[in-house]
Amino acid sequence: MDAITVTSPAETMQLGAKLGKLVQPGDLILLDGDLGAGKTTFTKGLAQSLGIDRNVKSPTFTLVREYHQGRLPLYHMDVYRLEDGGAEDLGLDEYFDGDGVSVVEWSQFISELLPTTYLRIALKRSGDQDDDRTITLQAHGEHYQQLADSLEG
Ligand code: ADP
Ligand code: MG
Repeated sequence: MDAITVTSPAETMQLGAKLGKLVQPGDLILLDGDLGAGKTTFTKGLAQSLGIDRNVKSPTFTLVREYHQGRLPLYHMDVYRLEDGGAEDLGLDEYFDGDGVSVVEWSQFISELLPTTYLRIALKRSGDQDDDRTITLQAHGEHYQQLADSLEG
């Protein structure tokens, strides 16, 4: 598994945009990393390349925000608030089983509720510069392996 190094928010958005061109209905993308790692920045790029022109913000309080104006629906989730549980009652499966692309920030907090196939993207501060990030991909399932290969290529 290779790591991708980026050196600016724009580059993180570009990687998200690249993924936005490749995702299919029902895809699940997990974004993990500390506060400020760039999860929402990545999602902004992905949303733009889907053709969503609204400003994407982290839905920390609403937990989920849906966008329907792009090539595919985008279900953007930020489950940071569910660190102590409570996700069982939210019906997240409706999103995972839906026709859109689900993007989940802080997915480790709902790990027991996730489907078995997904692309997990971990962002981490790295290097000497404030804007450096190391991005690692972990694919579960053949389709997601193809997505990962395309992103790394
Ligand atoms: P998260 O959703 O992981 O909490 P955000 O994407 O909301 O993180 O915020 C990331 C912050 O870090 C933004 O202020 C962004 O401008 C800054 N930043 C600096 N370098 C990068 C980078 N390489 N990739 C993404 N964000 C970066
Ligand atoms: Mg965020």
